[in-house]
Amino acid sequence: MRQIDLRSDTVTRPTAAMRQAMAEAPVGDDVYGEDPTVNRLEELAARMIGTEAALFASSGTQANLLALLTHCQRGDEYIVGQVAHTYKYEGGGAAVLGSIQPQPLDFAPDGTLDLERVAATVKPDDFHFAKTRLLCLENTQNGLALPLGYVEQARECVDRFGLKLHLDGARIFNAAVKCGVDVQQLCRPFDTVSVCLSKGLGAPVGSVLCGRRVDIDQARRWRKMLGGGMRQAGILAAAGIHALQHHRERLAEDHERARMLADGLQAVARCSVEYETMQTNMVFLTVPPEMVVPLRAFMAEHQVLISGGPRIRLVTHLDIDAAAVERVVTLFQQFFAG
Ligand SMILES: *Cc1c(COP(=O)(O)O)cnc(C)c1O
Repeated sequence: MRQIDLRSDTVTRPTAAMRQAMAEAPVGDDVYGEDPTVNRLEELAARMIGTEAALFASSGTQANLLALLTHCQRGDEYIVGQVAHTYKYEGGGAAVLGSIQPQPLDFAPDGTLDLERVAATVKPDDFHFAKTRLLCLENTQNGLALPLGYVEQARECVDRFGLKLHLDGARIFNAAVKCGVDVQQLCRPFDTVSVCLSKGLGAPVGSVLCGRRVDIDQARRWRKMLGGGMRQAGILAAAGIHALQHHRERLAEDHERARMLADGLQAVARCSVEYETMQTNMVFLTVPPEMVVPLRAFMAEHQVLISGGPRIRLVTHLDIDAAAVERVVTLFQQFFAG
């Protein structure tokens, strides 16, 4: 029986067509700027996101760190969500490697940061305080596409204080597909945007950081310093090109399967399902706490992997088809009936 892995959309394996594109990619030394496939990926990403330039990074964590290092100096501060990836899930990199102080705020339930609170949190120009320099947003946030119109308001807010605006757009294409708008509309207000190629888009490795040429040139310097100057990286960039060209529109299927999964689990007694209207490819599930461990064990016995915790996150992706969703719902019914 084929394994069904719902822990994350990072678990996808390259398709046969993607592997072929990787095998056939022309390569060169990217540190000399001579890898034609990396150059093609960077041009393609910049064109799609609507920026002057883009930079291939080893991961989303690296792309976000490059943006923070580019916008902030030692002793500066960025405002960020309390559970944002750029604050909570990147090992404190901005503080450790950039001497940049985070100022976290709670996200609203819709994944936004309240802009009045952001404005009230910007520190006055006074030597007691770090200099507030940057606001970081995330789209999607916990699978939720941000409400349309919010990012323009965020731009107006940061402009009042002369701050920069960075988007952790790890899953920005999920948001664009969900909202039925061009991704450029969602990215336009930002100075920089990071995009993961290795989540729902299905590439094995890599992210891109998109922005103005002057910022991307600076980010390229930081990338070298961080050990991210990769040589014949075209092998990996080819997977990213394939992902951007062939796996964007199909994200709608992941959203449809997440909805099917939510509907199916809603009907299972003792499962409390969260699935909001702006949800993309994630379903959050709460079960009685004493059942979490046995549930995971039962699923694993049946070749289904789910994450732990009191609030279980189930993620759909390229390797989860409708039959897999049906099998998972049936297993939940069996477990809770038993
Ligand atoms: C996955 C993710 C990243 C980057 O993660 P990497 O594993 O470093 O590629 C950044 N932001 C969000 C919101 C993510 O989900």
